[in-house]
Amino acid sequence: MSQTTTYRDDVTLNAFELKLKESGHYPLKAGRFNVLEANVGYRCNLRCTHCYVEASPERTEEMSPDIIDRILDVLRENPPLTTVDITGGAPELNPHYGYFVKSAAGMGKKVMVRSNLAIFAEPGMEDIPEFLAENRVKIIASMPCVTEEGVDKQRGRGTYRKIIPVLKRLNALGYGKEGTSLELDLVFNPGGPALAPERQMLERVYKDKLAEMHGIVFNHLIALPNQPGGRLRKSMSDEEIQAYEKELEDKFNPDALENVMCRHIINISYDGRLYDCECAQMAGLQVRQDISTLENFDYERLAGREIVTMPYCFICTAGAGTTCLPAGASKAGGSCRGG
Ligand code: SF4
Ligand code: SF4
Repeated sequence: MSQTTTYRDDVTLNAFELKLKESGHYPLKAGRFNVLEANVGYRCNLRCTHCYVEASPERTEEMSPDIIDRILDVLRENPPLTTVDITGGAPELNPHYGYFVKSAAGMGKKVMVRSNLAIFAEPGMEDIPEFLAENRVKIIASMPCVTEEGVDKQRGRGTYRKIIPVLKRLNALGYGKEGTSLELDLVFNPGGPALAPERQMLERVYKDKLAEMHGIVFNHLIALPNQPGGRLRKSMSDEEIQAYEKELEDKFNPDALENVMCRHIINISYDGRLYDCECAQMAGLQVRQDISTLENFDYERLAGREIVTMPYCFICTAGAGTTCLPAGASKAGGSCRGG
């Protein structure tokens, strides 16, 4: 899938760019984005089999308070940035997480956090759900399956038994319930290299099963395919990688381009570099050099920037696409993982 082709004498396009060109969408450009997504570290209490960040308890990368303060300055100085999306790793493991959330919420920004939920069962983390509710923070939580077997296979044994009581606590606080405005979205991803089933059908299954088995409610389900990178890629044979990448490329759907995340967000790594999305961050491909760090953040130039598109972008345009945008939700993209 990664071959390149010379389209004109002076431009060599990769396979994804060729599809963009053929469908009249080249080059892909960002719009007037309203979401700032911050990866506050790669440390995680889990070690999921599909994690393209390869987050784990051993990772040490962590966003410093200085970088967080600079992000808060950027949020304050740029009114179009209405939303901050905090992710990781497990973002709760950054010791300045509470400060970041409270400061962003205090300046009137919509704050959403990614969580694997199991973190709230760890010592010292038990009070975070109440804190998030107090600050009206939206939670986007990964839950790859409704069964214990499915969750534990991806996330490690015992995970399901940790997250079910956490979801019940979140519901008791009002999360996921009609009329509370405390939003709780769940994220499905397949167990291996595969596209996600049809979202609305899957949401019905999740809602019915979680209500029936545990009395749990939530707002929307986001259904994502797995990015063939990081830990998942290392577990696959060359043949499996080629077959999966070919499937993603064959299922290219130009209609999905409208909602690809990079057009609606800017992504910031723990060390303050700017990327089009988390996948680009993992690939080390920053936005253009003179506007690629927090120090030279320039909203007007970043809105309308040409996105660095690579063959990994096929993950966002296969079938219904990877938008992180459930039906009826506002354009508030983010990470291709729940947490
Ligand atoms: S997918 Fe999320 S919860 Fe799992 S290891 Fe990666 S960051 Fe942690
Ligand atoms: S992988 Fe990133 S840069 Fe590529 S289309 Fe998806 S969101 Fe955009």
